[in-house]
Amino acid sequence: MEDHGTDIDLPDSLHGMDDLALDMRLISSHRADRVWHRVNPELWAASRNPWAVLKSVGQPELEKLGNDEAFVAQVRALIEDRRKRNSAPFWFPQSQAAGTLNLTAYFSMEFGLSEALPIYAGGLGVLAGDHMKSSTDLGAPVVGVGLLYQQGYFRQALDSRGNQHELYPFSDPSEIPVQRLRGNDGAWIRIPLEFPGRTVYLRAWAVNVGRLWLYLLDSNDPANDPSDRGITAQLYAADPEVRWKQEMALGFGGWRLLRELGLDPHVCHLNEGHAAFAVLERASWIVREQNVPFDVALTVARAGTVFTTHTPVAAAFDRFDPSYVIGYLSPFAAEMRVSIGKILGLGRMRADDDSEPFNMAYLAIRGASRVNGVSWLHGEVSRELFADLFPRCPLEEIPVGHVTNGVHVPSWDSPAADELWTNAELRNQWRGVPTPIVERMEERPTAELWQMRNCNRERFVGWARQRLARQLTIAGAGADRIDEGQRIFDPEALTLGFARRFTEYKRTALLLHDPDRFARILTNPERPVQIAVAGKAHPADTIGKAMIQRWYAFSQRDDVRSHVAFIADYDLLLAEQLVNGVDVWINTPRRPWEASGTSGMKVLVNGGLNLSELDGWWAEAYTPAVGWAIGDGAEHGSDPNWDAQEANGLYTLLEHEIVPMFYNRDQDGVPQDWMARVRKSMGRLTPQFSSERMVRQYVDDIYTPAAAAYRTRIVDNCRVGSDIQRWREMIANYWSEVSFGALHVEPAAAGHDFRVLVSLGAIGTDAVHVQLYATAWEHGAAERIPMERGDEVVRRTFAYHAHVDSPRPPNDYTPRVVPYHAYASFPLETEKICWYTR
Ligand SMILES: *Cc1c(COP(=O)(O)O)cnc(C)c1O
Repeated sequence: MEDHGTDIDLPDSLHGMDDLALDMRLISSHRADRVWHRVNPELWAASRNPWAVLKSVGQPELEKLGNDEAFVAQVRALIEDRRKRNSAPFWFPQSQAAGTLNLTAYFSMEFGLSEALPIYAGGLGVLAGDHMKSSTDLGAPVVGVGLLYQQGYFRQALDSRGNQHELYPFSDPSEIPVQRLRGNDGAWIRIPLEFPGRTVYLRAWAVNVGRLWLYLLDSNDPANDPSDRGITAQLYAADPEVRWKQEMALGFGGWRLLRELGLDPHVCHLNEGHAAFAVLERASWIVREQNVPFDVALTVARAGTVFTTHTPVAAAFDRFDPSYVIGYLSPFAAEMRVSIGKILGLGRMRADDDSEPFNMAYLAIRGASRVNGVSWLHGEVSRELFADLFPRCPLEEIPVGHVTNGVHVPSWDSPAADELWTNAELRNQWRGVPTPIVERMEERPTAELWQMRNCNRERFVGWARQRLARQLTIAGAGADRIDEGQRIFDPEALTLGFARRFTEYKRTALLLHDPDRFARILTNPERPVQIAVAGKAHPADTIGKAMIQRWYAFSQRDDVRSHVAFIADYDLLLAEQLVNGVDVWINTPRRPWEASGTSGMKVLVNGGLNLSELDGWWAEAYTPAVGWAIGDGAEHGSDPNWDAQEANGLYTLLEHEIVPMFYNRDQDGVPQDWMARVRKSMGRLTPQFSSERMVRQYVDDIYTPAAAAYRTRIVDNCRVGSDIQRWREMIANYWSEVSFGALHVEPAAAGHDFRVLVSLGAIGTDAVHVQLYATAWEHGAAERIPMERGDEVVRRTFAYHAHVDSPRPPNDYTPRVVPYHAYASFPLETEKICWYTR
């Protein structure tokens, strides 16, 4: 699957340029920018779509370009660069994982690789795009799986009163950088999906991301019933049944496509629960190929499945009416020879509670061997969210860890930042080459950093003026307003940025809590401040839309109009310009609702600073040396008094610290204190919150052990998988026979001796561990002290003992029996625990 061949007739000198246009990794290359700009500057500026740009030129123009030596040299250099980058990865081949990890399939409902490919809505998709880009940079073996939406997510237009209008422009597959997939026989690949009373066919597409591929499915096949052709029309369809069908297409269809292409990834990474059906489909292949029961197949598939959860609220999990499960999955259950109740149970807290909906996050967690949240704080929050699935488990043992998100740094740097990092010989960091970033940053002259900042801000102001003028023209504004838009902002003034989804928890109107006070901050003649604001509200979110209107109305006030711009249609292109340009990025979510947040990470490489609530990634990144924080690091619900207090804190920080620091200049006009923070933020945080670090962490800590566990379970016709499944069934059937007898505690040496009787019933001594458990104490972690088995005092009742050297009172230690199997994961695969009760 290397060369798809395109239908563009390129002159010999430009041979290979079509591959450049189709490579979504190159989207972020400033050198490639110059090439596409040269080909068609207008279309390039408007679309950022190299494929459309290339297809827009006629044959005579192509021939002319092919004879332009300077241009040809640029193109050849890019092609050579790409070849080198793709053929010689530095990191993965040298990593521990190289010998053991064959391939990870990364499933996501959305991918934000470029605005040329509008199949994303927001943070989740951008994260998936950055995951793909860093994977290719590092040489990690990953294949993406997603859906190709004809209209994607909506585009936003604002009318002259600040009302949001939603537009759904149609993407013509021939003009976006995707290629239809053909099988070995040359025929187009079509993936059949059984729906009640009919077969729906999914078309398959490939998107190139450096050395990797992202495969997409869509249902707009002429063979389908008209009602089915629209299944993949829009991202996050409002109709729950359409959403269900989309998730079936992604999970069942996606895994089927991989197998059709001859791929058998040992690891399947579910980026959010939407794709959880992939686990069922994967298990069904194991059933057929290994000839084992469905339960065993699921136990094998689980070992190689990773689930990343992204939400801090249970209400955001995808839940479906159980009738869909019965209607759509009964044939699947019959083929797998299991009851539909069994399938239903995988998505429920209580399998037989017929009032309970089918929860995709539960299916994902039951189908995975590794589960993680997306920041340290979100890990904690997720353990609480999933605690009910593990009712006897202490919170810290709920099997959800965290891998903090990161961003693909080369996609988010400005041309000036690119130059600075290149001069500092730090660019290869993002390909996994170790570089002393902090030290090199310390060596850069302050004047050079300050010059980059000025350059970034100036470029952004120029861009914002053009964009605003166009926006005003389209909204039908008068000539004087358009003229004002063309002169908005001051390239030297402190520039704030605020862009995100307009939804309640993001508290997008917190800065407008006291509009007059904020206006005074903006318009101080000695120390002017300006702010660019952007964001979409979900079409059904009236609160979000009202917040957009408030910002819009504020931006129209006579006193602040040249200091405030609401820029419509927040997307990757707008995000890139914003994070390149702003001095301070502001984020005001209601803790702990921001699972991670990534937009603030995008300013780091460009020398922007963060002013944010202590939530998501900022809760682990913040120190006073690198930025500013609001809030007290605790949760306060939606208490309006607390919101008011935080708004006050925000204003006070701006008035007394941030604005004065920016304008406090030395004799050369450089704000030394400010730049000290910029330097620290760039050096310390950029690598830590990069997707390069994130992907390495997934590969080393999650994918590699998951792949090994999967292979252990599947070899020898699923020998270990079958054994684990038998063990799980034994634990489930006989756990009620486990009980404690008397406990004796005696002081001994510096601590205590513990002795307890344990009856195990039909469960063998090898299938359990008996421990003393103590919760975390002072600064220590929780303790789990193994108890040793002594004599069998009565049939199947054993004496266990342990000695504990600790100043802690003995009552802190509670004996418990937990299920044990060398290859199973506890408590993910069985949530049983028997506690001694005092
Ligand atoms: C980075 C990004 C996001 C995610 O932003 P957060 O507010 O940090 O979650 C959303 N949309 C776009 C277009 C982005 O580039």
